[in-house]
Amino acid sequence: MTATRPPKITAKAPARRVSQRRATDRRRSVQATDESIGMRLSARQSKAVMRSQPFVAGASLFNMLVVGLAAPQDLPNALVLAWMVALIVLQGVQVQRWMAWRRTAASTSAPRGNGQAAAQDLRLQLVLAGLHGLLWGVVPLLMLDHPGERQQTLLMTSLAAMLAVGALGLAALPRAAWLYMGLLGSGSLAAFVVSPQWVFGIGVVQWLLLGGLAVMLGRSVAKALHARVSAEVKGEHQNQLIGLLLRDFSEQGSDVIWEIDGSGRLRHVTRQLAFALGRDSAELEGESLMNLLGDMQKGMSDSDRETTLALHERLTEGHPFRDVQVGVMIDGKQRWWSMTAKPLVDERGRSLGWRGVARDVTQARMADRKLAWLAHFDALTGLTNRAHFRVLLEKALSHTRRYGGGGAVMCLDLDGFKNVNDTLGHATGDVLLTEVGKRLRSAVGNARSDVVARLGGDEFAVLLRTATTEADVAAVAQAILDAMKPPCVTQGAEIPVRASIGIARFPEDGLSVDEMMQHADLALYDAKAHATGSMRFFAQRMGEQVRRRLILERDLREALERKQLHLYFQPKVDLNGWRVTGFEALLRWTHPEHGDIPPSEFIPVAEEAGLILAIGEWALLEACVHAARWPDDLQVAVNISPVQVMAQNLPDAVQNALRVSGLPAHRLELEITESVFINETRGTVGRLHALRRLGVAIALDDFGTGYSSLAYLRRFPFDTLKIDRAFVRELLVSRDARAIVRNILALAKALRMSTVAEGVEEPAQVKVLEAEGCDLVQGFYVAKPLPADQVLHFALTWTGRDRPALPRDFSLGQTQTADLVTMMPATVI
Ligand code: C2E
Ligand code: MG
Ligand code: MG
Repeated sequence: MTATRPPKITAKAPARRVSQRRATDRRRSVQATDESIGMRLSARQSKAVMRSQPFVAGASLFNMLVVGLAAPQDLPNALVLAWMVALIVLQGVQVQRWMAWRRTAASTSAPRGNGQAAAQDLRLQLVLAGLHGLLWGVVPLLMLDHPGERQQTLLMTSLAAMLAVGALGLAALPRAAWLYMGLLGSGSLAAFVVSPQWVFGIGVVQWLLLGGLAVMLGRSVAKALHARVSAEVKGEHQNQLIGLLLRDFSEQGSDVIWEIDGSGRLRHVTRQLAFALGRDSAELEGESLMNLLGDMQKGMSDSDRETTLALHERLTEGHPFRDVQVGVMIDGKQRWWSMTAKPLVDERGRSLGWRGVARDVTQARMADRKLAWLAHFDALTGLTNRAHFRVLLEKALSHTRRYGGGGAVMCLDLDGFKNVNDTLGHATGDVLLTEVGKRLRSAVGNARSDVVARLGGDEFAVLLRTATTEADVAAVAQAILDAMKPPCVTQGAEIPVRASIGIARFPEDGLSVDEMMQHADLALYDAKAHATGSMRFFAQRMGEQVRRRLILERDLREALERKQLHLYFQPKVDLNGWRVTGFEALLRWTHPEHGDIPPSEFIPVAEEAGLILAIGEWALLEACVHAARWPDDLQVAVNISPVQVMAQNLPDAVQNALRVSGLPAHRLELEITESVFINETRGTVGRLHALRRLGVAIALDDFGTGYSSLAYLRRFPFDTLKIDRAFVRELLVSRDARAIVRNILALAKALRMSTVAEGVEEPAQVKVLEAEGCDLVQGFYVAKPLPADQVLHFALTWTGRDRPALPRDFSLGQTQTADLVTMMPATVI
């Protein structure tokens, strides 16, 4: 309740004034203690005496009758009568006082009267005891000349009884007891002195014995009374002190003190409490705490309202409790109080209610909630985080283990995200990740049962609990891939978004969180290795593949240093003059254990492991160094990975290779694939132009595969177009393939690009390509890739080889170019 502290004088008073005031309060309170002990003692003494009054009066009247009957005959009746009347009047006064005392005792439980009244009362009691003692003290003197022994015995017995009555009845008031007994005993003593008879002697002895008893009794009773009263007074004083300290604490601190009685009603309402509740202290006094809290919870959620039930339970249990948090609405805003309290009990252990403190913990609770949220969600995208995703996955899996059913886990990874982050900065990277999060959420759709999570970096995951069949899961995955297709537009730049998806299904592919995540990861790995923007379901074989891949990655790091990489060269032959025009450099890795590993396997590994830049630079330089030793009319073509194209230093690397090797730029051709454009970032095309300005030729490799789009051809004016060997392979068996090749060649010609057909293995393919106007061929028909030391020999001996002869039954087919356009795959057009 710190936030709502009232602007009160005490709270703002200088600390010194406050502490002075506190000290004065305490001093006053200590002085008051002695006074109140005396007062209370008087009251208690008076009370103890009063209690025995009916018995004292009864005994007195009875013994009075005995004395009256046993009085000597010669004693004037008037004297005896006067004595009796005096005693009756005296006892009457006492009984009246007793009745008055009873009435007041019944009407209040508090210690009666004030100090003065109690002292007056005691004085009166002393006088009455004196009178009583006097009346009974005269009895032995009246009996001096008593003739009968029996009467004398009766008289002495009555006197002894009255001595005992006084000793016991006035034990709580020693002074009165001593006065009474002194006067009563003095009569016997005087009688014995005047007439030393044995009866008076007995009276004196009794007096002495009972007097001693009365003194002792009186002392111990007085002591006990004093001890009890002072304990009471000290206890109360301590309570007052505690109250004082609590009030100070309440006024100074952030905690607000509250107290309720046995029936749960507020009492001693502090100003702070009243202020915190926005009410008046007087108005709150006596109001039920639970009702009050109930009224203050309007507009809160059901679960938050239930917090008062917890408080109610604790109050019912009756044990001290700490930090029970209760929600309340104050000024239309929800706040949280932490309640701590102890039960109040009287000296007999009976419940008197509760006293406790309430602290406003709204801020702390909000911070806790934020922390709890962050423990479960990703701060950037608002998606579930890795830890929470695993918990939810475990729940889904245990549900499947118990009740059957199933679902799927998808692992997603953005292709080329690292590049976006590196080239366009982290802020753009964050925009992209947020956008991907949004698209994922809307593509997955079923937010209640399915979970979309960001595992970290550009890794996302989806838990599908509703889509159980493979077809359903594939449909969701496809929806995700489709959602990712449009580029992300930020600050005028278009960033291509491509995600790969790996899927593992449960229970088929596993029933533990680790298994599921690992399998979905393996499938993702496989998807990425296959093609960007694709999806893969987990299959058992993937584990072995990945293991091999990891080993490859480890070994590839050392392959360059250990000189395990070599270049092979595959010739290209000009269909016009049947001459070798150049060679394509192709990487080879001779692994010490696994033997020759094809580039199709280790290049993707190098790309992912970030090794491609070093390997690519090495290949570039190595190829140029070799080519520089070849005849001047032989070109060398070097494959360049998209990762290299995206790296800003590619033009420098090329320039460096040319300079170091001394190879003229026009003898170098760089082969890039269209995936460069799929993951195109700002600067890609500019970099290609920069390379062109160096004088090197640029070829588009593997044309016709993947996402072939003629748009790429318009983005950049390539020098050469390499038709993928998939078309060449089909050339002789498929009309469509032949039509496509013809069309590609026509296009290339229109765009003034030279053309190379890859993977030419048969003479018939050479003839068809020649007839269609292809410029160059490359393939096993001409030669397999050759070790570097055989290149020169091959080039020099090539001229003697014959051109392939066309088989007699061979025909080129009748398809016209116009028809061919309609036969091309839509993606190509
Ligand atoms: P690519 O650039 O399309 O290279 C042509 C591939 O086709 C080579 O495979 C070659 O051996 C193979 N080939 C050539 N003629 C025939 C044929 O008649 N029939 C068949 N079946 N295959 C033929 P290789 O050497 O295994 O290279 C595979 C791919 O690895 C290359 O495809 C290229 O994309 C990549 N690669 C090779 N060397 C490098 C390099 O230094 N850097 C980069 N970034 N990639 C490279
Ligand atoms: Mg190539
Ligand atoms: Mg190729």
